[in-house]
Amino acid sequence: MKYEREIAAREEKIARLLSSVPLPVEGLTPEERDERFMRAALVLARAAAEEGEVPVGCVITRGCEIVSADYNGREALRSALWHAEAAAVAKACERLGGWRLPDTTLYVTLEPCPMCAGAIWNARIPRVVVGTKDARAGAFGSVLNLNSYPLNYRSEVTFGVCADESRALLGAFFRARRNRTEN
Ligand SMILES: [Zn+2]
Repeated sequence: MKYEREIAAREEKIARLLSSVPLPVEGLTPEERDERFMRAALVLARAAAEEGEVPVGCVITRGCEIVSADYNGREALRSALWHAEAAAVAKACERLGGWRLPDTTLYVTLEPCPMCAGAIWNARIPRVVVGTKDARAGAFGSVLNLNSYPLNYRSEVTFGVCADESRALLGAFFRARRNRTEN
């Protein structure tokens, strides 16, 4: 595979970043659990920003466990398909051994685009938790709503978990990029 070394280094980095994040344990309320997992996704979104990528991070969980995680890698891996969610879905299928991902929840800091919403639908992920909405490309209600079409499966979508942090991260990234192009 092309970029094999980059992908291996990336996996190590993701594991290292996640090992520093307090993850949920049994006994937390569902809201507390959502917030903890979203904070893990935010750590990955910050890593994306540091690498010059649009800051989006994603973790897929089952119970109290993270099954897979990734962040936007379009620039680093030179691929239009390397969005945080699409990459995390591919890895979760590999790790759980099938194309269906029952009993999982996908946490993502920014509303999924049409491609990633399609990946979520294809993997039949029952629940999606979103940080902030994406007025430019969001496919769970902002630009289009995949859940409004007569498809054979719908994920339950929760918005607004750690939305301010996610928005702040995206705002800072785009401001810095604008300043760079203006100077
Ligand atoms: Zn996407």
